[in-house]
Amino acid sequence: MTTLRILIAGGGLAGLATKLALASRGVDADLAERDTTPRDGGTGLYLPANAVRALRDLGLGDELDRRSAPVRRQEIRDRTGALLTGFDLSEIWSEVGESRAIRRSDLHALLGAAAGSSGVRLGAAVTEARADGTVEFSDGSEDRYDVVIGADGIDSAVRRAIFPRTGRKFLDQICWRFLAPTGDASETWVARLGNRGRTFLTVPVGDGQVYCFAAINSASPAAPAGDWRELFADFNVADLLEHAADAYFAPLHEIEGADWVSGRVVLIGDAAHACSPSMAQGGAMALEDALVLADELADGPVPEALDRYRARRSERVAFVLEQNHRRDKARNLPGFVRKAVFRKAGVKIIKGNHAGLLTRP
Ligand SMILES: Cc1cc2nc3c(=O)[nH]c(=O)nc-3n(C[C@H](O)[C@H](O)[C@H](O)COP(=O)(O)OP(=O)(O)OC[C@H]3O[C@@H](n4cnc5c(N)ncnc54)[C@H](O)[C@@H]3O)c2cc1C
Repeated sequence: MTTLRILIAGGGLAGLATKLALASRGVDADLAERDTTPRDGGTGLYLPANAVRALRDLGLGDELDRRSAPVRRQEIRDRTGALLTGFDLSEIWSEVGESRAIRRSDLHALLGAAAGSSGVRLGAAVTEARADGTVEFSDGSEDRYDVVIGADGIDSAVRRAIFPRTGRKFLDQICWRFLAPTGDASETWVARLGNRGRTFLTVPVGDGQVYCFAAINSASPAAPAGDWRELFADFNVADLLEHAADAYFAPLHEIEGADWVSGRVVLIGDAAHACSPSMAQGGAMALEDALVLADELADGPVPEALDRYRARRSERVAFVLEQNHRRDKARNLPGFVRKAVFRKAGVKIIKGNHAGLLTRP
């Protein structure tokens, strides 16, 4: 058993997956989570095949199969529902495996149960971190670790302390998310596209529920006045919007160009590289980070292990950010151009978007 003292700041997908991945390599880690109750973040999550592969590599395959739903097909439609392109996901991901979708609460519960409660402190926020591994907590206590893993999300306090000049960038997009009942058992991810960057996505998550994500371009990160559902009144989704009164609102941001390693401190997941949900790769990147970091820490020594982690992850993460930017641009093409492009080359473009993600991280 390695005797490194490791602190993971944050008990989201990245933090819980890292604790689990380290434990399976014989390395214990403490985890400090700001919230007092386990967070579910609401709504749903699409898990592209590389996220499913990472969860299987974490030993969670059986539980995942039980709690999530397979997604076998993708379709891109216009706002009226007319098909622009459709394809089986095996065309995109063949050798990687299937894609799935899950309620966020279920994924958090699944990871939390597997990671266990040993060494986990809830209601303990990290307020300060230094490159020598010193950390301060919200109760005023201070401790020193061999490794500090900043898995504390897009507004990371660890990142602020170590790289104060790196901040999040607003992507000129805002969104709403909710779960709705559905009688549709199609196992199909459907994106409906309109003008002003309007996107309405549905993904079945099982148990007769569908996860809905609606986004629109916006110059301001604030929620617009009035009932947001009117922004999608000309989309063919009135039956779903009836269930959206309590939808979660969020402005969309990214972290780009951040360094992730300084001395004994390393950033992972959204803290390091939060991205637009266009590719639905945020969860996958967090899970892959966890597996790679655990591998490298188990091989030691620190801080060389952290440098190897950064070297193994940077190209792949840059690829995802780049594909997100391309997709965001494509969504904003004039309607007639967008339709022609997707009709003619949709599958080819989407295959290209994922080409860098087929190999194991
Ligand atoms: C609208 C939207 C839709 C998305 N859809 C998808 C999708 O379909 N598929 C997908 O894979 N990804 C999706 N993502 C991205 C995905 O949600 C994130 O990439 C993922 O949750 C990142 O996990 P994380 O653990 O790095 O961060 P988080 O999930 O943000 O977790 C961070 C944790 O750290 C805790 N914390 C914060 N500050 C501190 C502190 N100072 N001290 C201690 N703890 C702290 C928080 O309470 C939280 O528990 C989406 C994102 C958005 C915004």
